[in-house]
Amino acid sequence: MVVNYVSTRDTKKQEITASQAILKGLADDGGLFVPTSIPKLDKSLKELSEMTYQEVAYEVLKLFLTDFTEEELKHCINSAYDSKFDTEEIAPLVMADGAYYLELFHGATIAFKDMALSILPHLMITSARKNKIKNDIVILTATSGDTGKAALAGFADVEGTRIVVFYPKNGVSAIQERQMVTQKGDNTHVVGIKGNFDQAQTGVKEMFNDKELAAELDAAGFQFSSANSINIGRLVPQIAYYVYAYVKLLGEEKISDGETINVVVPTGNFGNILAAFYAKNMGLPIEKLICASNENKVLYDFFSTGEYDKNREFILTNSPSMDILISSNLERLIYHIAGNDAEKNSELMEGLRTTGKYEITAEMREKLSSFYGNFATEKETGDAIKKLYEDTGYIIDTHTGVAASVYGKYKAETGDDKATVIASTASPFKFTRAVMGAIDTDYENEEDFVLVDKLSELGKVAVPNAIEEIRTAPVRHDTVVEVSDMCAEVKRFLGI
Ligand SMILES: *Cc1c(COP(=O)(O)O)cnc(C)c1O
Repeated sequence: MVVNYVSTRDTKKQEITASQAILKGLADDGGLFVPTSIPKLDKSLKELSEMTYQEVAYEVLKLFLTDFTEEELKHCINSAYDSKFDTEEIAPLVMADGAYYLELFHGATIAFKDMALSILPHLMITSARKNKIKNDIVILTATSGDTGKAALAGFADVEGTRIVVFYPKNGVSAIQERQMVTQKGDNTHVVGIKGNFDQAQTGVKEMFNDKELAAELDAAGFQFSSANSINIGRLVPQIAYYVYAYVKLLGEEKISDGETINVVVPTGNFGNILAAFYAKNMGLPIEKLICASNENKVLYDFFSTGEYDKNREFILTNSPSMDILISSNLERLIYHIAGNDAEKNSELMEGLRTTGKYEITAEMREKLSSFYGNFATEKETGDAIKKLYEDTGYIIDTHTGVAASVYGKYKAETGDDKATVIASTASPFKFTRAVMGAIDTDYENEEDFVLVDKLSELGKVAVPNAIEEIRTAPVRHDTVVEVSDMCAEVKRFLGI
């Protein structure tokens, strides 16, 4: 069955292929691409339980990316999920305190963004070839820390691509900055800006929308594309690990065939949990989709009241990748629960743009019954990390700590003790300071790399390569520019 893609805001429902959707990223009308239908898994859970991660990924990708050949998809999958990951399992499950932690942080930058950003470059190059595009693809990204490094690692030395990442010079953690400025690859360029993340993002958006610049680039053999999390080429690979987690539990006889499980996802932009929603709709036996927020609890409020309202204070937390007030990917869910109604969705999104809020109908709310939303305060998150460590010796990062805390609230409220998978989205080594501070406040005055070694000792896990590397790696990028010079810097890098 062919699956095509339509914009969540296009009432005419004009279809494009998966490869075209991957190349475009965002639709011209500002909407997000969604599949024309959600395909069902066509292998039994039993059959899938005998497969490797790569094989399961193929079974999922082939159903969504139907204009790719088997050979193309397998090439993309095998180029992505290889020795860049520090375990052959790619996404291992660790049982601790009655839940299964799905460790999505074994890739190059030790955060779950690697799961999608290690394959996106390959999907993009294949898409470009398919659509007879001769230009080199130039990825432009503004980052507040994690996405930039994961995109750099994914695109580094991928032929036919260049990548430029802008970050706020004084707005990322020391470890995050070191990770980026030491990035290898002749096609990579990392630029600090004298401004904040919003200014970096606005600058990037302006370049994307600049028609004259696009023409100049085209003449020189380049075109822009985006690696941000609304790209369907990032969303689809994320569905695979939920299927993998389920069939792994089945294979190990932790659950029986068809038994339902719950999934807990620490959520920011709503991409990761939307992938779980798609997995459920493919027929994977998931009961509850538990959406965990930090103190920026706009999603919790949305699930409790039916109103999405971003008009509130933005809170900086120790789980910065979830410090988000506009969860972009939620638009896809809104479109689906509106009955794939682009007009209704556009109306709500227009409300969000103009007044910062919108309210869904009672009928739409009914379709959210498989979701449970809650949030964890900074203190609750720290307590969850400390308690899990003290009870089991297992150390989780701050984002996963939010999920663990919310899962505790869910269990206390409902008494539901179904087998549960918690998406573990970052290695604790990526947020060492906050994690160690949660375990013992005495650690607060130690230097970053001292804490790294302490964490390794306490958790009895080796320091990941991604961290070892940056201790001594030479700085390769030291460009810092004014916000107004971002475009000139891109041109300089491309030699135009
Ligand atoms: C990006 C990120 C999240 C949030 O994921 P979304 O798909 O944006 O909901 C959670 N944890 C970590 C560590 C992340 O990097």
